[in-house]
Amino acid sequence: TRVLLTGGSGFIAAHTLDILLKHGHSVVTTVRTQEKADKIKADYKDAAAKGNLDFAIVPDIAQEGAFDKAVVSDPPFEAVVHTASPFHFNVTDVKKDLLDPAVIGTTGILKSIKKSAPSVKRVVITSSFAALVNPSKGNWPGHEYSEEDWNPITLEEAHENAASGYRASKTFAEKAAWDFLEKEKPNFTVATINPPLVFGPIIHAIDNLDSLNTSNQRIAAAAQGKWKDEIAATGVYLWVDVRNVAEAHVAAFEKPEAANKRFFTVAGYFTNRDIVDIIGKNFPQYKELPSASTPGGDYPKGGIEKGLYKYNNKRTIDVLGLKYKSLEESIVDAVKSFQPKGL
Ligand code: NDP
Repeated sequence: TRVLLTGGSGFIAAHTLDILLKHGHSVVTTVRTQEKADKIKADYKDAAAKGNLDFAIVPDIAQEGAFDKAVVSDPPFEAVVHTASPFHFNVTDVKKDLLDPAVIGTTGILKSIKKSAPSVKRVVITSSFAALVNPSKGNWPGHEYSEEDWNPITLEEAHENAASGYRASKTFAEKAAWDFLEKEKPNFTVATINPPLVFGPIIHAIDNLDSLNTSNQRIAAAAQGKWKDEIAATGVYLWVDVRNVAEAHVAAFEKPEAANKRFFTVAGYFTNRDIVDIIGKNFPQYKELPSASTPGGDYPKGGIEKGLYKYNNKRTIDVLGLKYKSLEESIVDAVKSFQPKGL
C-alpha cells in the first residue's frame, strides 16, 4: 500500500515507519526539515534506494493548507497515518503551542486529502487516552475506561495549565476528525489509536537525553537518580509499549474492519515504583535508585482492585490482533536505547 506518514521524526512515528517498511508498504513521510529527512534516510538506505521511502517537508502543521502538496503523490496514496502533534509541556501559549497544531493539523490534513487525494481509503489518526480520560473523576474506582469514553474538557479548562492544554488538544483534534467525517462525507474512513503513556526503545534521532520524548522521560529520570529521595507521582497508571502502538497504526489501515473505530491500546497498569524496581533488577550500574523505603510512586489507596479505574482493551486484541509486551521488556529496552545517548 502507498502510505503517507506524518511526523516521521517522532518517537511513535519512527517505529510506525519501521513496521510499514517491514510490511512492504511504500511510504512518504513528512518531517519539518531536510536535515531530519536525511537522518531517517541514512537508517533506511535500501528502502530509499528502491523507492519505498521518500520525504515531504512540512515545517508547521498548524498552517492552513500545510499538507496540500504532501498528500499528492505518484503513485497516489491509499492510506494516511497522521501522528504529528505536539506532546510536551514547555508551553507559553496553549492555543499556539498545543491546540492549533493538534486541531488545525488534523482538520488540515483531512481537508487536503478530500480535496486532492481521492484515492485515500483510510486515515489513521494518533489520538490518546487523553481524549478518553475524565480527569475530574480522579482514579474513578468502579469505572471501566473504553472507547466509549470522551474527555469532557472545555476550551476554558484547556487554558488552565499545560497538562490540560495537552489533553484538550488531543480531545478537540479527535472530535474534529469525527465531525469532519460526519459533515464532509469524504471517500475515506477513519480509525483512531488512543494510547495511554507510551514507553519503550527510541529509534528516532535525538542528540542527547535532554530531547528525549515526553513519555519516556520518567524512565531516564529514575535511572539518573532524580527520584533518590522521593519517587514522582505516577499520575496516569496505564501504559503501552511503543512497538504495540506502532503495530496498531499499521493494522488500523491494513484491516478493513478497523474502519470508523477508536482503539484503546493499553497493555496494563504500572506505577513509577515498578519502573524503579525493573531498572534496579536489570541494571545494577545505576546506583542512585530509590529504595523500598523511599516514599512515593505507589498505587492509590485500595490498590488496583479498589482504588483505580478498570480498562477494556478487547477491541485492540480482537480487531487489530495486538499481543501486548510486558512492562519489564519495555523498560529494559528503553533503558538500553538511552545508554548511547548518555544514560
Ligand atoms: P514526539 O514528540 O516524539 O513526536 C511528535 C511529532 O510531531 C514530531 O515528529 C514532531 O516534529 C511533530 N510535530 C509537533 N508539532 C509539530 C508542528 N507544529 N509541525 C510539524 N510537526 C510537528 O512524541 P510522540 O511520538 O510520543 O507523539 C506522537 C503522537 O502520539 C502525538 O500525536 C501524541 O499526542 C501521541 N501520543 C503520545 C503518547 C505518548 O505517551 N508518547 C500517548 C498518547 C498519544 P519535531 O520532532 O520536528 O518537532
